[in-house]
Amino acid sequence: MNNQTQDPKLQELKTRLLEVNDLRSASSLLHWDQATYMPSGGAAARGRQMSTLNRLAHEKFTDGAIGQLLEDLRPYEESLSFDSDEASLIRATRRDYEEAVKVPAEFEARFSDHIAAIYQDWTAARPNNDFKAVQPLLEKTLDFSRELADFFPGYEHIADPLINFSDRGMKASTVRALFADLRQQLVPLVEAITAQPKTDESCLHGHWPEAEQFTFGRKIIKAYGYDFERGRQDKTHHPFMTKFSLGDVRITTRAKEDDLAEALFSTLHESGHALYEQGINQDYEGTPLANGTSSGVHESQSRLWENIVGRSRGFWNHWYPLLQQANSNLSNVSQDTFYRAINRVDRSLIRTDADEVTYNLHVMIRFDLELQLLEGELSVRDLPEAWHERYKSDLGLTAPDDRDGVLQDVHWYGGTIGGAFQGYTLGNILSAQFFDTATAAQPKVPQEIEQGQFSTLHEWLQENIYQHGSKYTAPELIERVTGDPLSIEPYLRYLRGKYGELYSL
Ligand code: ZN
Repeated sequence: MNNQTQDPKLQELKTRLLEVNDLRSASSLLHWDQATYMPSGGAAARGRQMSTLNRLAHEKFTDGAIGQLLEDLRPYEESLSFDSDEASLIRATRRDYEEAVKVPAEFEARFSDHIAAIYQDWTAARPNNDFKAVQPLLEKTLDFSRELADFFPGYEHIADPLINFSDRGMKASTVRALFADLRQQLVPLVEAITAQPKTDESCLHGHWPEAEQFTFGRKIIKAYGYDFERGRQDKTHHPFMTKFSLGDVRITTRAKEDDLAEALFSTLHESGHALYEQGINQDYEGTPLANGTSSGVHESQSRLWENIVGRSRGFWNHWYPLLQQANSNLSNVSQDTFYRAINRVDRSLIRTDADEVTYNLHVMIRFDLELQLLEGELSVRDLPEAWHERYKSDLGLTAPDDRDGVLQDVHWYGGTIGGAFQGYTLGNILSAQFFDTATAAQPKVPQEIEQGQFSTLHEWLQENIYQHGSKYTAPELIERVTGDPLSIEPYLRYLRGKYGELYSL
């Protein structure tokens, strides 16, 4: 975005957007600190500090002056091409602005106080397996979610506005149809695989000193292209990626000394999110363009680097001998045994531990329950039972309690009911569609992966996806990059190819 040719009003808009961004970044930094180094005594004040910053950011962003600037900039925007950075900035800002002003500040404040309260209660209720303790607050969350959706009248399904917050352009009906198709193909695949003898994964459970695990993971993500001059990695309980500017994109990881897979694959996963953010055009700094475009596209990048690359056979041709050198536990374990262990498919109760094949079934259960709750077809009181029934019918499993049932994920206890989960499966689907397109354009990618080289793949993603940030919505981006709308076919081909070989189907 060249400063000389800019309209002065656009310059003023950018100055205001930077201030909003600074407040939000400060809040993100407080959150990162809370999740990594903050002593527990800081918790109460920290919650208040973040909520103050978020309130100020919201007030600044919804200021009528921004609305006026966006109005004044209409003719300028119309004189530019859709693809230009300036037009895209105005378009993305207008979209966010129009959304933000529909939600009254008074609602934001009430909802944010409520979230702080339920999150706090959930952190105690989960270890105590006490759903009843959070049930009244979760009922309130459902009311809040409905109230929020109703600020966006004209929807087809009440979940649509909530889905649109994280996956713009998607609706309950489109996601439902997509998931129904996928499910129909996935269920027989899961059945065929789980009818086979269980894979031995004991090689992953020796003793793995934490520092060693971090060192090995760092080597891989450096090779991926994660830039430690513009990021860092720290320890946390629940891994995440966060960004304070395009020059400071951080990841967090947790390690288990008796489980090699935990830190390794969560590091690869979060690095995928970070590569996306580090790759955004630097000129977009501090504007609404400087973010990944949707939760589905974001997740496509974490899953691509974690699974399609990091759990592939070719990848380990290069890295397995290095892993064996780093830890003697594996000296007598063949690469094939290790490869099978990290790709073991098994029905399980916990979403975050699920393998590539069953993972989406976990997501679909949550997505369906969210819709039923919002529709009023299911009450919060009956939710634990509905959860157990779905696990029984979809995965053939019964959780011994609610801790590993309806209390397992933070999402409903830290945000809305609705829109929280579909992005994970959209991401899985998209990861294969993008990777297919990348390898068609650059056929040497698989061979490079076998040699521990990732620059061609990284550059392709950078050029086609990362640099654009939020310039295009997910549907626009997918069409532009792959020439097709979102499709489950590449993902099904990927799963059938990989697991067909692994399980001799
Ligand atoms: Zn993720």
